[in-house]
Amino acid sequence: MILDCAIIGGGPAGLTAGLYTTRGGLENVTMFEKGMPGGQITNSSEIENYPGVTGEISGMDLMMPWPEQCQKFGLKHDMVEVTRITKEGNLFTIHKNDDTTTQAYSVIIGTGSRPRRVGFAGEDELFGRGVSTCATCDGFFYKGKEVAVIGGGDTALEEALHLAKICSKVYLIHRRDAFRSAPNTIKRIKNTKNIELVLNSVPDEVYGDAMGVTGLRIKNNNGEFRDIKVPGVFTFVGNDVNNQTLIQEDGSFLCDVNKSGEVIVDISMNTSVPGLFATGDMRIAAPKQVVSAAGDGAVAGLQVISYVDELLN
Ligand code: FAD
Ligand code: NAP
Repeated sequence: MILDCAIIGGGPAGLTAGLYTTRGGLENVTMFEKGMPGGQITNSSEIENYPGVTGEISGMDLMMPWPEQCQKFGLKHDMVEVTRITKEGNLFTIHKNDDTTTQAYSVIIGTGSRPRRVGFAGEDELFGRGVSTCATCDGFFYKGKEVAVIGGGDTALEEALHLAKICSKVYLIHRRDAFRSAPNTIKRIKNTKNIELVLNSVPDEVYGDAMGVTGLRIKNNNGEFRDIKVPGVFTFVGNDVNNQTLIQEDGSFLCDVNKSGEVIVDISMNTSVPGLFATGDMRIAAPKQVVSAAGDGAVAGLQVISYVDELLN
């Protein structure tokens, strides 16, 4: 069977695309998601800027009903990793890591982004043994203990606030003296007594023993070193887009991307390849918000309905 639409990625963008395509009348739509649907927001302890959702809610709780709502209209979920998307004539082929392929008339890709590594000594060796990129997942291991957070954007600050509720102290280490975050979040950081700001400083080395991390050496802009004896180091220094499925056998991209690998789209989420739409965090100029990723999914979903209709009729 040839799918009307293959949706790659089951975050806010992919799930909303699934809702709009199926509710809009397309019968054969499958979402290919390698894990549990929901996307990266499920790693967030709290989201307070999704319109209409008030009160304290975790990313996991926000996303919980989304897949069920799509399934009600007929969206299918294939829990598999997509390795490559190719196109011949009017047909796309979805290559999967179980060595099978699926064909589709259209594709909406929303594979999001992944946490970037900072690049200090010991980071890779101690990853998962004290170095982490997920406070919701690992914060509880450090209940009542001191931890370090690296980064100065929204993610670092919000996760530092979350960790401050669990841990005895949070060292927030940032390479500049100004944060790249919402003013309200910065205010909350400054008002939180057990967060110590360590500005104009970068991590130099994380070290440990057989049990895991025992400390972090940081270096300030004057070249001075300081050792912070913490068992946990959380890094939040931005993300890289997941565009690997667009890379062809010869190393070129299936559609146009910019220098950072973000997919170039127009305001209807069309890529340079007819029938291929890109949504959410992976597209150019993405606001990197749940609400905008969902909006992209809706736009692409509506476009796909017209595209498939014109192609087949
Ligand atoms: P993602 O959410 O990244 O989803 C992509 C999905 O694709 C994932 O489920 C992944 O498993 C899947 N996938 C990737 N590659 C493949 C493949 N090859 N095959 C199959 N599946 C694949 N935004 C807000 O609006 N408010 C907030 O408060 C907020 N807080 C955040 C806190 C944290 C800690 C983080 C990390 C992000 C936060 N964001 C917040 C940003 C928000 O999570 C993202 O903008 C949003 O999730 C992007 O949605 P997406 O659908 O584009 O991608
Ligand atoms: P980001 O905004 O790109 O911030 C990354 C931070 O890490 C910056 O402060 C940067 O420093 C620092 N950094 C980068 N590389 C570094 C390195 N090698 N060493 C030390 N520090 C380094 O990333 P993000 O915070 O993950 O946010 C990503 C996107 O999601 C943003 O658009 C953000 O607004 C959005 N988001 C929104 C919310 C929300 O709306 N509530 C929550 C989370 C995320 P510089 O400042 O010096 O560049």
